[in-house]
Amino acid sequence: MERREGSIFPIEEALEMILMFDRGGKLTYVNAAARQKLGYESDLCGRHISHVFPNSFRVVEDGFETECSMGNELQNLVAYRRNLTCFPVEARIVQDDTDSGMYICMANDILEKEFLNREIDRIKQEAKQAMKVKSEFVANVTHELRTPVNGVLGNVRELLDRKMDEETEKSLRIVERCCDDMNKIINNILDFSKLEAGKFTLEPRKFHFRNMLDYVKANHINKMTEKGLGFFVTVSPQIPEYVIGDELRIVQILNNLLSNAQKFTPWGKITLEAVRTAQVGDRIELFFIVADTGIGIDEGDRDKLFQSFSQVDASISRKYGGTGLGLNICKQLAELMGGQIEVESEKNKGSTFSFSIWVGACEGEEAVLQQPDDVKGASVVMASMIPSADAGGENPENIRTYGTPENRELLGKNLSKLILSVEMENWEKAEMFMETVRQLTEEAPREVKRAALRLKMAIQKENYEKVTAEFEELNHFLQSEGEVQHE
Ligand code: ADP
Repeated sequence: MERREGSIFPIEEALEMILMFDRGGKLTYVNAAARQKLGYESDLCGRHISHVFPNSFRVVEDGFETECSMGNELQNLVAYRRNLTCFPVEARIVQDDTDSGMYICMANDILEKEFLNREIDRIKQEAKQAMKVKSEFVANVTHELRTPVNGVLGNVRELLDRKMDEETEKSLRIVERCCDDMNKIINNILDFSKLEAGKFTLEPRKFHFRNMLDYVKANHINKMTEKGLGFFVTVSPQIPEYVIGDELRIVQILNNLLSNAQKFTPWGKITLEAVRTAQVGDRIELFFIVADTGIGIDEGDRDKLFQSFSQVDASISRKYGGTGLGLNICKQLAELMGGQIEVESEKNKGSTFSFSIWVGACEGEEAVLQQPDDVKGASVVMASMIPSADAGGENPENIRTYGTPENRELLGKNLSKLILSVEMENWEKAEMFMETVRQLTEEAPREVKRAALRLKMAIQKENYEKVTAEFEELNHFLQSEGEVQHE
């Protein structure tokens, strides 16, 4: 099996030196790396292997003699160049198992490998140092910025307590708002650099879930009302009163999504919904949905949304401001909390951002499974369509327990009525039946619950095509689990 040096062979371009020799010890092929490192051009083939490894191979009458082991074992040899200088290599010599009597030697220059390892370490250290310098710089600059901003803010608030004419008050309010915006940007940059440097730690502790949502609602209700937007907050009764998680960071994600929703919605409504989607031991998965009826996002732009410093286009930043960091921070925070964030949107119809997180459930704090409880002061309460024990003689527990014949029957009835309402474009009624469907699927497997949630979102957006598609999807899940009887 004679091969010419430099022939086209898959191993020709390998970084490793590859030398092939026959039973007689005659080199039949050497790749480019071997030729280059050993200082030959095209005259290495035909020589004896002992030319390259004189300490390990000797010429004998019928070929060669060696103490080298043949197999996968790595061994240290000394390779000699054409000019008789030498260098240590780490080599593996194997015998071709096709009975051709060929040997293949694969060797790496140890010094070069060590040099490369040292280089990699050096570059890693430099990158780490650069990251540290950057993080410290960002921390210092943002701190330096925060101090004067807070100085201005404090003084403006003091001035606002005094009596003044309307014009001056208006100007001071603008200064106050600008300082608040500046603080938000500073905090975002600080969070972003900490997350990027892997220095961000969550601080989970026990907190009252519904109070947290009240707080979030209070943060936004004024701006929404000022803009004439409807703002609806609902929380599933299956979420316990108290959970263990990083409240501050959950609030941060919700605030960001709600601020965006408010910013990009000229009219219509914004809804925030919190549901429990899974439980494993004492950990529960919470799912939040923030939906708006705003300007929406083009399909092509959706991928960019969660990247840092990304806004849909330059005109957005001019018109609405912002740094494009908010959603990237939300994504990283949701992932730190074991979840993920997603967006669905349609241009000029609205956007729905949803994210999941895992929190600890506090023992004995399970909320009672009742009617959906709306957050205090929220503008929507859905009436439960599930019959009570004294109405119709049904056992409500059986009805609520997912998968029981009673539950399936009622589910089927409500789904039929729901789709009928949609066909008649009676969206309010469809929402009512949807609420019952949601309650009836509250204990359903995760995929069914998610399908129900998507259907609900589509109904809220009054999107006929999406509703029918999601309806089919939900139906498909229900049918594959057992028959749901439609009327
Ligand atoms: P910013 O701080 O600039 O708002 P974000 O990361 O929060 O940064 O948002 C990035 C971009 O995503 C926004 O500039 C906007 O183009 C788009 N976006 C976010 N939320 C919505 C929404 N609810 N409706 C339409 N576009 C949105």
